[in-house]
Amino acid sequence: MHKSDFKIFEKPYIYLDSAASAQKPQVVLDEIMHFYQEDYANVHRGSCALALRATELYEGARQTVADFIGANVKEVVFTKGATEAVNLVASSYAQTLKKGDEVLVCIAEHHANFVPWQQACLLSGATFKTFDVNDDGTWNLDDFQKRLTKKTKVVAVAQISNVLGVLNPVQKLVKLAHGVGAKVILDASQSVAHMPVSVKDLDCDYLVFSGHKIYGPNAIGVLYGKQSALEVLRPYQFGGDMVDTVRVEGTTFAEIPACFEAGTPPIANAIGLGSALKYLSNIGFQYIEKQEKNLFKKLILGLKKIEGVQFLGSPDLKTELVAFNIVGIHPDDLNLILAKENVCVRVGHHCAMPLHTRFGVSASLRVSLGLYNDEKDIDAFLKALQKAIGFFK
Ligand code: PMP
Repeated sequence: MHKSDFKIFEKPYIYLDSAASAQKPQVVLDEIMHFYQEDYANVHRGSCALALRATELYEGARQTVADFIGANVKEVVFTKGATEAVNLVASSYAQTLKKGDEVLVCIAEHHANFVPWQQACLLSGATFKTFDVNDDGTWNLDDFQKRLTKKTKVVAVAQISNVLGVLNPVQKLVKLAHGVGAKVILDASQSVAHMPVSVKDLDCDYLVFSGHKIYGPNAIGVLYGKQSALEVLRPYQFGGDMVDTVRVEGTTFAEIPACFEAGTPPIANAIGLGSALKYLSNIGFQYIEKQEKNLFKKLILGLKKIEGVQFLGSPDLKTELVAFNIVGIHPDDLNLILAKENVCVRVGHHCAMPLHTRFGVSASLRVSLGLYNDEKDIDAFLKALQKAIGFFK
């Protein structure tokens, strides 16, 4: 538990919404401030000491990201978030997919890994398909295999759904998808802050995540792509810094990853993300996984004792987040009371409307853990929830 690393917890917040966005440790904030105060300049442009230093720090952050997920540094593209990273890939596919091609997406996907593919299919004439999850929240791999065909060009899935919290068997799915020649884009937004993620082990073609969910700043995200998978993508935006030569007759583009980073990039945010990843690595996933697992067990045990709790998926298969409803009470109503008790959770469809529809509900209440949570947070949440239920019953 590292609560004291986070200044925000000097105030009595019970913060159980890290799946939406994580709080920032002071070391990350200090590093961003230090960059602006001591080393700030634009990158890849000037040759003065400051410009060189800023470039070194920005590219250093890219190396930190690459090391964190076991990638080659050329395979790491900075974006403004997971959403932009998926859009980058999908917008390129929108131009190369053809009528007759298929894109297969899990019904549990966050809208960020669902809507861009639906749109890419609309634009290209390709067919958008989904595969189901089981009632316990695990992937329905039989359904996946039924819907996967030789026409499937892309499979889009999350390692951990932001509603179901189940760690999915990615390697198994990647093997099946590669068997028909499809590329796999993996949304690791809900996994990277909680467990080691190795792109080599997973063998996915693309992987995306957001900086703000992994204790880094807002407006920075990562697109990883295997070199060969990145090289076939068309640049997403055009302008300065992503070109090789520009003439009236035409333009040639820089190599990967620069060709995907048009204009001045989010320099300080990238440096802040690098700092967050170093902070996490120093704590170590062995500690984080053990700590979060114990707390989560306590949370689930507490929830199971509450009358009328209906989980989305099996409570016993989840990792660091859980979504549920209390029979007869709308989650928005529960949240009114929780908010009064300084408890921060998330209610709504969590940008996963198709999944909520699949489970026959329109909304749920989600509780998600971060490395700063402790037993007191869980006790306070469970007490506040009982109070809220009592108020509406
Ligand atoms: N995928 C998942 C699984 C998420 O939980 C989120 C954020 N809720 C996103 C993608 C989108 O991330 P961002 O809004 O930072 O782009």
